[in-house]
Amino acid sequence: MYLHGTSRINEFGRLEIGGCDTLALAERFGTPLYVYDEELIRRRCREYVDAFRGSGFEFQVAYASKAFCTMAMCRIADEEGLSLDVVSDGELYTALRAGFPPERIHFHGNNKTPEEIEMAIDAKIGCFVIDNFTELRLVNAIAESRGVKVKALFRLTPGVSAHTHEYISTGQTDSKFGFDIGNGAAMAVIEEAAGLSSIEVLGVHSHIGSQIFEVEGFRLAADKVASFAADVRDRLGLVFSVINLGGGFGIRYVEGDKPLPAGTYVRAITDAVREQFTKRSYPLPQIWIEPGRSIVGDAGTTLYTVGSIKDIPGVRKYVSVDGGMTDNPRPALYDAVYEAMLANRANEEASEVVSIAGKCCESGDMLIWDLPLPSPNAGDLLAVSCTGAYNYSMASNYNRIRRPAVVFVRDGQADLVVKRETYEDVAGNDVIPERLRKKEVHQA
Ligand SMILES: *Cc1c(COP(=O)(O)O)cnc(C)c1O
Repeated sequence: MYLHGTSRINEFGRLEIGGCDTLALAERFGTPLYVYDEELIRRRCREYVDAFRGSGFEFQVAYASKAFCTMAMCRIADEEGLSLDVVSDGELYTALRAGFPPERIHFHGNNKTPEEIEMAIDAKIGCFVIDNFTELRLVNAIAESRGVKVKALFRLTPGVSAHTHEYISTGQTDSKFGFDIGNGAAMAVIEEAAGLSSIEVLGVHSHIGSQIFEVEGFRLAADKVASFAADVRDRLGLVFSVINLGGGFGIRYVEGDKPLPAGTYVRAITDAVREQFTKRSYPLPQIWIEPGRSIVGDAGTTLYTVGSIKDIPGVRKYVSVDGGMTDNPRPALYDAVYEAMLANRANEEASEVVSIAGKCCESGDMLIWDLPLPSPNAGDLLAVSCTGAYNYSMASNYNRIRRPAVVFVRDGQADLVVKRETYEDVAGNDVIPERLRKKEVHQA
């Protein structure tokens, strides 16, 4: 397993993260456990911010909080000077409750409800990223009724398909997200928005996909966006002050994944925007980007305890752990791949190839196929690396399994940032209607 950030093997032959022995973490907090390397999160934030400083552009680096949205994470994003993307009332609530400055919050999503829009306007968030005509009219009407003007970006589908897995591509014309440039919807929405009293058009947004390992897609998107901006200026006399080129910067999950340094993506973006806008004699806009996965992905490690082992001679050895698709649905959802190691036997050579199964009642609940490990035993501690993005945030209570705790580790200190769910969390919202109540319970 590749050791990310501050991860290392300590003098006891155990995996250590942020100066904390993982075996001690498992004993103190239980398993499964999400462990985040705080220093690595902060380093990832700074790589983007530092790359923009000195580029000559005004910028915002907005952390796409859907990758991992907790109050402690919002605090780190704030401390590191990032902005924040939210996609729902729950994410917005989390950010506000953590004290995240509302003016640096951007609200995304293709179906914001009237209640969510009211909540965001009342909180005075910085910007709506408007996705469709229904939303534009709704936001305008709600803003108008409150006598305020709302800043807006408009999400474009630039017709750029990033080289990535089909399920996580969002830049093509056939997408539930955004306004298509090619079919005229994008021009039409800007024209309509420009005539609305309660909408201030800041500019446009494009997000071409996820887990992208090259810069060509961003260059193409910058070209399309600049060309569209020039068309809007020529037709409507309206000049954009902000261009948001989205997120999707890749990370290393397994050997063979070749992410570029944050600075390389940022330089490609700033160079392309400068070139494409200058070419069209267009004033240089602010550049906003929205990394999610690449801020938190490789900073997360999930610790599991090994339980049942089923050996099918000549076929496969299934090694089951005390979590699975409930804490990491990505392998089941889109065949995502991960690396892992025995954290308590970190110096031992791999002696066999096994497959890691979750404990849910689904044959598809497999975390890793064909993983070389030193022969695992019940009670061993399995560490799966690179689980920081879209694991906790996508976790479920399937099989009524309680969601794990989350800890941040740094300089030998471990702090709980999300408590492990209790049975009360699992069943506490259930209500038994009067007519279904057990007599004894009823009379008690
Ligand atoms: C999901 C998403 C992001 C973040 O994507 P990552 O692959 O996690 O960097 C950014 N912007 C938008 C609009 C998104 O939907």
